[in-house]
Amino acid sequence: MQRKSFHNVMNNKNKEISELEIEIKKEIDSFYNKLVSIKDLGGLEDIRTEYTGKKSFIIKSLKDIGSLPRDLKPVIGRELNTARSKIELEILKKEKFLKNIEYEKKLKNEGIDLSLPGREVVTGKKNIISRVIEEIEEIFIGMGFNIAEGPEVETDYYNFEALNTPRDHPARSLHDTFFVSENILLRTQTSPVQIRYMEKNKPPILIISPGKVYRRDYDVSHTPMFTQIEGLVIDKGINFGNLKWTLETFSHEIFGKDRKVRFRPHYFPFTEPSAEVDVSCNICGGKGCRVCSGSGWLEILGAGMVDPSLYSFVGYDPEEVSGFAFGIGIERICMLKYGIDDLRLFFENDLRFINQF
Ligand SMILES: [Zn+2]
Repeated sequence: MQRKSFHNVMNNKNKEISELEIEIKKEIDSFYNKLVSIKDLGGLEDIRTEYTGKKSFIIKSLKDIGSLPRDLKPVIGRELNTARSKIELEILKKEKFLKNIEYEKKLKNEGIDLSLPGREVVTGKKNIISRVIEEIEEIFIGMGFNIAEGPEVETDYYNFEALNTPRDHPARSLHDTFFVSENILLRTQTSPVQIRYMEKNKPPILIISPGKVYRRDYDVSHTPMFTQIEGLVIDKGINFGNLKWTLETFSHEIFGKDRKVRFRPHYFPFTEPSAEVDVSCNICGGKGCRVCSGSGWLEILGAGMVDPSLYSFVGYDPEEVSGFAFGIGIERICMLKYGIDDLRLFFENDLRFINQF
């Protein structure tokens, strides 16, 4: 399209300003008509040059203002500059619009947005419970133990009866059992694994059995599911001295050689004698504090010599063999080892918690 420059228009000094305004309006109309049909950034560049470039009507006219009569200069100048701003603004808006379209097209074609910054790959981490179980397993494997496992859904027989806890036994009420049916339950302890293992194996027996156990309980120091490691040693001539050495060795390995270990008489249905094992409190060094309830000691596990009456369930001769058993609460060990005061933190799988270890 051939357009006159404003200079040409203004050559005839007699023309009215209104006529010049008409020329500007025509220029803007022509710009709008072309802008509507622009479909890509290349086309937009072309009309940018055409309407705001050095050879464009408006720029050429602005250059020619100098030769206009003095009284016309400001009026024409203002008209031209307003028109240029309008055109430039429209071009910027269209440019933004077209860039968005091209970006979306690119996304669709590539199926991946290469312009986004890379994302850090966050790898999972083992729960502290699993890592402490592994640590404890290694300690016992180092002493010659094997690992045995059993079902979490158990029969009443293996969970209670074969462990010297018949139906009317008062110790049952301490367990807050989840019953599936009258004879099927979620195991309340890992001890049933002992019976299952003894049924299939003859002494010497040297096993630990880690696993989840279940009880109906929920507060800062109880959760419906928790983790135990049960240990069993049976052979000819096993005595309480062997039990003490084994558990002292374990306590020193897991908590450090500087910790004192003591055995306190206790009661468990399937061991006789039974003991609870404490380590000296690491917070107060044994002087007594809030964590150890002023005693200077922290309970870590229960143990005892296997009650000979248990052997009748698995066909061992109590005159021939003897042994000891122990049960360790993993969460308790974690709490004492790392100073954690709410048991529920172990099961929430909050990475902010897990990543601290
Ligand atoms: Zn203390």
